[in-house]
Amino acid sequence: MPGLTPGRRWQPAYSPFKKENFGDRALQVLEYSVKGPLFGCRMCGNCLLQETAFICPMECPKGLRNGPCGGSTSEYCYVDKTRPCIWYKIYERSFQLGREELLLEVLPPLDWEKVGQDSWRDVFRSVGKMGVRKAVRGLLSRSAERRKETWDGIFRPVRQPDWWQGDRLRHPPAYTEPVSDLERRLAAGEFVVTSEISPPLSSRTDKLIRDIEATRHYVSALNFTDNAAATPRMTSWACSQIAVDHDAEPVLQISARNRSRSNLQSEVIGATALGIRNILCVTGDSAKLSPAPREKMDINDLDAVQMLWILRRMRDEGRYLDGREIKYPPRFFLGAAASPFSSNPVFQALREQKKVNAGAQFFQTNLVFDINGMETWLDQLAKRNVLDKVYILIGITPLKSLKMAVILSEVPGVHMPMNVIQRMEAAHVAGKASEEGVQIALELISQIKRYHGQGIHGIHLMPVGWDEVVPRIVMEAGLMPKEFVFDQSSQQEWNNAHHIEK
Ligand code: SF4
Repeated sequence: MPGLTPGRRWQPAYSPFKKENFGDRALQVLEYSVKGPLFGCRMCGNCLLQETAFICPMECPKGLRNGPCGGSTSEYCYVDKTRPCIWYKIYERSFQLGREELLLEVLPPLDWEKVGQDSWRDVFRSVGKMGVRKAVRGLLSRSAERRKETWDGIFRPVRQPDWWQGDRLRHPPAYTEPVSDLERRLAAGEFVVTSEISPPLSSRTDKLIRDIEATRHYVSALNFTDNAAATPRMTSWACSQIAVDHDAEPVLQISARNRSRSNLQSEVIGATALGIRNILCVTGDSAKLSPAPREKMDINDLDAVQMLWILRRMRDEGRYLDGREIKYPPRFFLGAAASPFSSNPVFQALREQKKVNAGAQFFQTNLVFDINGMETWLDQLAKRNVLDKVYILIGITPLKSLKMAVILSEVPGVHMPMNVIQRMEAAHVAGKASEEGVQIALELISQIKRYHGQGIHGIHLMPVGWDEVVPRIVMEAGLMPKEFVFDQSSQQEWNNAHHIEK
């Protein structure tokens, strides 16, 4: 366990890909001998320690470089409960040292050519560029501002290569007219509803099409999850295309897990060519949640913040990550996940602000069962001046059974108040658990609606396979879209398929 850092390493240090001469190897060994014990360094070759309170973030099993995932807790990493969440520790120490604003800088993905190599030579090169005399004078100056400026002048080029140039600033979209119907409704001030449909487990599409047809009139857009819980299903991309073909507006969910940077960029170019206009970037559940045998679970090529940064630049600056020009840039409305109940609302607000700065235009939150907790999180976002820069849709799940309530109460990032469990227990005994679940969802929605105009812009329903409940919830909550037309024939067909009597 490193001396000054709170964790232990997930895996051994990276090895260089290239054959190295003796001098290079000696420098790497020296750097690792110093930085390993002190900071938990894993020799990623793309050092970020200046921005992460001198704790190496590469201990995170997901390889995240821009903050904690939605499963982060103060006690442990949800992927491996025997370890602390290293990002929680980084945030904790940054706040203690007054360095928290540094966490807003959007940090690049690894340049894998540098992986396993020393980063000291990059620092020496940076000092050389600045001029050794100027660097020494700056670092020894009596002026704290000059010291800080010199320090940053040395280390910023090390962590921010020319192909990335991340910063702590907000980058609003470079267009004015909404690119999707969802964006148009939100911009017009509607309280919108989006809903998830679980992608099918096989290549048969009849149920998927029935669900799309029957739900599309009730919601502004339909989300298709991207292998939730790291468990394969039909790809979100194919479901989104089918939704477009059936006049529904999809939200294409793309998870960083299992995706390389080139794969991400080519997918969004293709998706927008096919008419998909909403893209939700998520880091994705760890493969630890997947059924066995498990795939490689230690490293992601990208995190959600980096995905937002890359996609926003493709759209607004018309260039790929490698700098090539995109003659006809893709157009899309960019979203991200937000997590009101992960780790600590103060930390989460900073993380959400970073996503907004990187390019998130809307948030779909994790499940909310606790309105007071949601308000605490909103207050923290307000303190960070974020609420007028992003549309927020609150995640609601109707509980179908007591068992579901108990399972969800154990999911990191979900807070299930005791009174919800007690209500579900009583309803379970009376044989009315699913009805109670619907009533709880309706009560939550009615309370959330009061925040319209105060930071909340709608609801994101996550029925977890209970898709037939969506029309009822939307109708009873009085949340039908403005031009709502009841399509009786498709509704009847769908009711028949789901054995529902009306
Ligand atoms: S909880 Fe998430 S962010 Fe924290 S160390 Fe584990 S995988 Fe990384």
